[in-house]
Amino acid sequence: LASKLFHPEDTVIEVDGVKIGGGNITIMAGPCSVESEEQLMTIAYAVKKEGAHMLRGGAYKPRTSPYSFQGMQEEGLKLLKKAKEITGMPIVTEVMGQDTFDVVEEYTDMLQIGARNMQNFSLLKRCGKSTRPILLKRGLSATIEELLMSAEYIMANGNPNVILCERGIRTFETYTRNTLDLSAVPVIKELSHLPIIIDPSHATGKWSMVEPLSKASIAVGADGLIIEVHHQPECALSDGAQSLKPEKFAQLMRSIEKIAAI
Ligand code: PEP
Ligand code: MN
Repeated sequence: LASKLFHPEDTVIEVDGVKIGGGNITIMAGPCSVESEEQLMTIAYAVKKEGAHMLRGGAYKPRTSPYSFQGMQEEGLKLLKKAKEITGMPIVTEVMGQDTFDVVEEYTDMLQIGARNMQNFSLLKRCGKSTRPILLKRGLSATIEELLMSAEYIMANGNPNVILCERGIRTFETYTRNTLDLSAVPVIKELSHLPIIIDPSHATGKWSMVEPLSKASIAVGADGLIIEVHHQPECALSDGAQSLKPEKFAQLMRSIEKIAAI
């Protein structure tokens, strides 16, 4: 179902009025984690002002250490909903498991399946039953074929609205957090009709590399970007090192607008 052979025209997915795919370039931005009302609203206003189409923010966080901040959970979902009411931007947030699926689905517009869950097949089957579009992130060590097979799980179970996301893969390189596989974009454009966006924040782990790789992503034909932004990255409860300050996000938006109409 994800194959171009089955469906030659590019799929366009609408999330509460925002179009993804089919030549649109969709920018999703916001904090890694929702931390407080003040934090979320400050960042939401800032990214909206610079032209972001959707707001990202994690309420349930897949952290490597169980002692790290795990997210504000349902409180965080309520704040995301409030941010949408105020700014008009639809929300994308991660759903980590079936136990919290219904509540995440109720509060938000698009559900993110994180890299660590890309092959959680029972969760993918649950996504197939959802009415929400699914942002499916590539696993840390997953091939493009495996990513497409995971999309197939969601589609075969009834949900045709899948957006793929390249977010860097594990390689021998350690300078960056992951290695951004830019070639995933043209490969997926050859094989599939589904939209593909890039997450340069998790791909690099370093804020200074987010703008150059955003430009490269747009140039290579990605349908959009998902970017972590924080007004005080040094105090962020997760992923501060890769989060852009609002003024750097503004600069990124201006530089990608030179490459394509956003
Ligand atoms: C995130 O988006 O904050 C996240 C945890 O992403 P990934 O699953 O790509 O690591
Ligand atoms: Mn993050």
